[in-house]
Amino acid sequence: MWIELEQYITQATGQPFSGCRYTPVGGGSINQAYCLQSNSQRYFVKLNAAHKLSMFAAEAAGLLEMEASKCIRVPHPITTGVVAEHSFIVLEWIDLGRGTPQTWYTLGQQLAQMHTTSSPRGFGWHQSNTIGDTPQLNSWTADWATFFAEHRIGYQLRLARHRGGRFSQGAALQAAIPQLLANHHPQPALVHGDLWSGNAAFTAAGEPIILDPAPYYGDREVDVAMTELFGGFPAAFYEGYQQTFPLPPGYQHRRLLYNLYHILNHFNLFGGGYGGQAERMIETLLASI
Ligand code: ADP
Repeated sequence: MWIELEQYITQATGQPFSGCRYTPVGGGSINQAYCLQSNSQRYFVKLNAAHKLSMFAAEAAGLLEMEASKCIRVPHPITTGVVAEHSFIVLEWIDLGRGTPQTWYTLGQQLAQMHTTSSPRGFGWHQSNTIGDTPQLNSWTADWATFFAEHRIGYQLRLARHRGGRFSQGAALQAAIPQLLANHHPQPALVHGDLWSGNAAFTAAGEPIILDPAPYYGDREVDVAMTELFGGFPAAFYEGYQQTFPLPPGYQHRRLLYNLYHILNHFNLFGGGYGGQAERMIETLLASI
């Protein structure tokens, strides 16, 4: 398998790559990850089942979309494909280091800059992708509340029903989304889509980098909301963001709705206590109307 993979990489880069050593890399939640190394080249490779090729193809396209915005560094995708019974994505290898207040500030600035990248086609993207292992539907939609209600909350609620999750007020919450987002008219913004702390990093030289995205054009607040979901990013990140592109009033109220999407997704991926957490979030949101 590794020899075939070397051939794919050689073909993609035009530089002969062979005799590599491979070392497992920890820290991912969905795929098996490896460092592939020859004497002169190094790559980051993720493997999954063969039928997951479209997931990796969408990840590569998403990374290129973000790279094209020229605002924040992402790992450059080299190639995707299937070898033996595995699908794979190959990315440039990046030596990762630790953040400092200064580099977190820069990450906030650069994310805010990326959020000024818009799309004339509205909310969505030209292809669907995945969030964790869950399909994420990106059908272009003119209205943000409709997009978020149907393709984000509605879709996760449907998946939850198939999983046996009963959110008694789920339909009521979905119907209330236009009201919860009333008077809020965001510009479509290129978002990372899955910005928890494991997907924000720094190169060894201190350059901010965002990994493993689930991008689309949406309300930029979804990214900031997710950074706050599991404990929050360092304060310097929010200072950098707000100095560059301040959030509009009402963000604190919308944050709970936006993060419900991720908690429903966690319920669909992992089950457990996320069901109860989603139920409580739905009650709080409905009570706020
Ligand atoms: P998964 O899709 O399985 O969640 P990630 O893309 O999040 O996997 O990668 C897992 C870990 O590998 C990251 O948390 C990071 O530490 C490391 N990593 C990711 N991309 C690279 C890269 N291009 N070079 C070096 N290390 C990387």
